[in-house]
Amino acid sequence: MNGTPRIVVLAGDGIGPEIVAAARQVLDALGEFSYEEQLMGGCSIDEHGTALTDEVLEACRSADAVLLGAVGGPKWDTTDPNAPRPEQGLLGLRKGMGLYANLRPVRPSPALVGASPLREERIAGTDLLVVRELTGGIYFGDSGRDGDVAHDTCEYSAEEIDRIARTAFDAARRRAESSGRKPKVTSVDKANVLETSRLWREVVGRVAGDYEDVELEHLLVDNAAMQLVSRPADFDVVLSENLFGDILSDEAAMLTGSLGMLPSASLGADGAPGLFEPVHGSAPDIAGQGVANPLATFLSAAMMLRHGLSRGEDAARIEAAVDAVLERGLRTPDLASGTVVQPPTSENPAPEREVGTEEMTAAVLAELA
Ligand code: NAD
Repeated sequence: MNGTPRIVVLAGDGIGPEIVAAARQVLDALGEFSYEEQLMGGCSIDEHGTALTDEVLEACRSADAVLLGAVGGPKWDTTDPNAPRPEQGLLGLRKGMGLYANLRPVRPSPALVGASPLREERIAGTDLLVVRELTGGIYFGDSGRDGDVAHDTCEYSAEEIDRIARTAFDAARRRAESSGRKPKVTSVDKANVLETSRLWREVVGRVAGDYEDVELEHLLVDNAAMQLVSRPADFDVVLSENLFGDILSDEAAMLTGSLGMLPSASLGADGAPGLFEPVHGSAPDIAGQGVANPLATFLSAAMMLRHGLSRGEDAARIEAAVDAVLERGLRTPDLASGTVVQPPTSENPAPEREVGTEEMTAAVLAELA
């Protein structure tokens, strides 16, 4: 990529503007970026009567990357089917930008392994990425009802499988650059039963031929669901079709036990801009209070650097800075209260200290300096 990267920023609603402003500070500490702030979601409904205008979609399509906060909130909740809804903006972006690959990394920060519902020794060392096909399969096939009988059709073309497989293999290679591990792709299917899965396995195997440095393993989805909780640290990239990926990515996300820490990326064709956003929503219950956890958005910005702007080293710096501030004991209230409280131990002597968005951001900036 030549010149200053152009990033469309969709701060959105609720805590969106707070966490995205914090993420811009983190990006600015790493280099020069040109930002274009645009409205999407509830704020766009207020201004334009629609969650996503054609102008904003066009701006996103011609950017180098799109950074999103979160959208939605009680103000726009409605039972009127004709009223505009904030989520329509998200769906419009996915469709309009051709985002067929959803990437969700699961990497519990060492200081937070105690928050996982799994035992510490089982979760330690987990660092995996779920690559889910997002625009095909049973969610988009023919469906219908005839009296008491209903059907949903799962359909995949070799071309759709080929492109998502390449996304997974490319991601495995990029991850290996910063981790030093041998890259591996675990492809999930149900090839013992489903014809689409047999085509899936065949095409993924073919694509693997172009990536001889990347190890490929195939797992049946039922087995994958078990292995993800019994040996999560053995996975690198998990590649899956839409329905299986929907379920497995939520299962994998729970491994961290902490919603405020999870980033995601949605990617389209090679060279087209991707969309990077935290997994959590707009948290209207805490908006404007200065207590939102900005770390999932920082980690989404890291994904943008790695997967969208080919700046893997800068991405790794953000990830290391996030780990460091957690190791120093800093916790936003969502991490400090309830689920994640950890007493100081000999390995983690820093006592926990509750901080707001601003102090957490300042601490990450200090780590980067
Ligand atoms: P939510 O993720 O917004 O909030 C769930 C709980 O987690 C809340 O208690 C919230 O305070 C807390 N939380 C979430 N993110 C946090 C953060 N960064 N720091 C601290 N605490 C955090 O989910 P919800 O309450 O079900 O939804 C609220 C709104 O967000 C709804 O309008 C929903 O439609 C929308 N939503 C948007 C997206 C998106 O933009 N991609 C995703 C999910 C939900």
